[in-house]
Formats: sequence, C-alpha cells, structure tokens
Amino acid sequence: MKFRIINTPIQAIPLQKIKISPESAKQFATQVIAWYHHQGRKHLPWQKNKTPYSVWVSEIMLQQTQVATVIPYYQRFMASFPTISSLAKADEDNVLHHWTGLGYYARARNLHKAAQLINSEHNGIFPEDIEQVIALPGIGRSTAGAILSLSLNQHHPILDGNVKRVLARNYLVEGYTGLAKFDKTLWPLSEALTPATDTGFYTQAMMDLGATVCTRSKPTCEICPVRTSCLAMASSQQADFPQKKPKKKIPEKNTIMVIPRITTVTSDSVLMEKRPPTGIWGGLWCFYEVTDKSEITSLLQSLGLKASTKHGSHQELRTFRHTFSHFHLDISPIIIDCTQVKAGVLSQINSQEIREPRKQKWYDLRSEANVGLAASTKKLIGLLQK
Ligand code: SF4
Repeated sequence: MKFRIINTPIQAIPLQKIKISPESAKQFATQVIAWYHHQGRKHLPWQKNKTPYSVWVSEIMLQQTQVATVIPYYQRFMASFPTISSLAKADEDNVLHHWTGLGYYARARNLHKAAQLINSEHNGIFPEDIEQVIALPGIGRSTAGAILSLSLNQHHPILDGNVKRVLARNYLVEGYTGLAKFDKTLWPLSEALTPATDTGFYTQAMMDLGATVCTRSKPTCEICPVRTSCLAMASSQQADFPQKKPKKKIPEKNTIMVIPRITTVTSDSVLMEKRPPTGIWGGLWCFYEVTDKSEITSLLQSLGLKASTKHGSHQELRTFRHTFSHFHLDISPIIIDCTQVKAGVLSQINSQEIREPRKQKWYDLRSEANVGLAASTKKLIGLLQK
C-alpha cells in the first residue's frame, strides 16, 4: 500500500508496516470514549430504550441519509411497526409508504424481507450471532457490527463512511469510499482499534466523531480527541484524505409519463401502476411510461381507456429531471382526460381497489395515498392536487 504525502513533512509508511501496538490502540479508544461521554450524541430517538430492532431500523435509515432527515421517518416507522413481528406482518405497500421521500427504497424492501425471515427462522427474535445477522437481506458487515455493538455491546468493528474518514486521516490511508482496496486496508485498522470492552460507546463515539468533528470539509481538529496522533493534521493534509471519488459523467435518459385521469361527480382519479420488485422504483407506485407519444393510444387501449376528444384533454406539463445515482432521467408528463372506459375499469374507480393481476390502482387525488410512491409520482400528484 502506498501513501501519498503532500509537502512530505511526515515519512510515508507502507501499509504492511502499519503496526498498531495494544498501547496505542488502547490510548486511541480511551480518548475517543472519553470525548463521547462529554460531547457525543446521546438523545437521538433510537438511543432511547435501545434494542437490536430499533438500532437496526435507524442504521438502515441513516445509510446515505442525514440524521435530521431520518428522525421524523424513524418516529413514524416505529410508531406503526413497533416490533419485528409487526413489520413482518405489514403489507409491503404500507412499509414503502412509510419510506416515501427517504429514497433508496431497496433498503425498505430488504428491511421488510429480513423481518419476515427473522419471524420465520429466528422465532421473531433478532439474531445475536454476527454471521446470522450478515445473512439477512440488506445488512453488511459494518451494519451488523454497529447493531450488535450499539444494542448489545458485542465486540465487533464497524467501517461506515464516518469511521473511514477518521481512520484514513489518522493513518494517511490512500483511496476513497467505493474502492475495494480502501476498505481492505481500513478493516484491519478498525479491528485493531476497537476495544473489547465498552465497544458500544466506542462505536457510537467514532460515528459521532466523524459526523460532528472530523467532517468532510473543515474538520474541527482543535477539539478532536485524537489530534495528537493524527497524521493528516500533523501534515496539514486533512482535505486530501480520503481522496475524492473520480467523477464519472452519468448518462441522461428521457421518458414520457402518461397520467390517465377520470373526473366524475364523486371522484377525481388518476391511474397508477405498481412497479416490479426490482429495478428503479421497485415495488413503488408510478404513472405509465412510453418512449414516444405515438404509443399513448395503444397504452390507453390496453388499459381499457379512451382519451376524451374535447379540447384541452391532453395537458403536457413541463419536463423535469430526476437524478438517480447512475443516471439522470428527464420526465415529460402528459395528463390525459379519459371519458370512455370499459365497464370493468369504471367499476373500480369509486372503490379505489388495486387491480391485483395488473397491479393498477385508481387513486383519488382528494384522498391520501397510503402506498409507497416514487419521488416523481409524489411530485406529480402534488402538482395535480394544486
Ligand atoms: S485531528 Fe482533524 S483530521 Fe485528524 S481525526 Fe481529528 S478531526 Fe479528523
């Protein structure tokens, strides 16, 4: 392993020669834990009456998401699904509804699937063996370690984004999040530093240190408990570690989103479909997509609908962009008033029932949608409701 040193005030140490003595590891952990007792976060909602379940839910929500954003979602989720068993028995639409707006919906689907597995294979009790925890959908080694150390004080290292940053700076480890070599280098460091006692405090302390002191930009080194051992601080290289992930130009795609609408005396409904469980917006409710306007007529026919011929029945809304992690999607929505429908479809408009075989749903814009909505669907519904 090579280290990149700028202005070379400190001699680079090849990775294989990094030796953390038990004394220096103990000193590091002691400083971090002492700092936590004075400065760490102790009143977050998931820190009250901690259980493996509550820590698990919070850890999954906190992936890619800030604490302030997570808090209201966490509170609503735990109020509706207070136990693993209640989550396991919940309808997937209801689980995704509680996740609407939080993004990365695979997290919610995996949480739901894992709760069902815990119910069927572990008698509804969260497993305490780390290998069994890692075997659950959506839980990697770091998340498993965090759940078991934070809730049960078990001795496991973690390596989330915050810990990676603190360790990469302390030991000038070259690389960036997402690079396999970077993680491979940092895991042994995290293992060596994680104390066998007070592991829960240490884990929380490292998370808090990365989130509040050793921040991505402008770390407040002057109040950092490990500043005396930090090589990045000693060589003024905090901004260079971890390195920035090389930027890839992400592709641009476009789609036409068709919103069939039927207004009657008693309802103002739009037709949505439920996405397949995998792929973008997996398991969420969306409007229909076509690649060209010429496909709209046949789409409506396949839905048992016919566009109204009256003036203004097609309303094109302004194109907007939704960015996924791997591409931009430019969405051009078209609302189409439908005046003629087959009897079978009409009969469902007022009942708002899901047509299970085709996974379709007429949603009345005057009511609340109690299902998981893709961000674009939510945005369009908001526009339609205005
Ligand atoms: S001294 Fe600064 S760069 Fe080093 S771990 Fe502390 S906050 Fe991060």
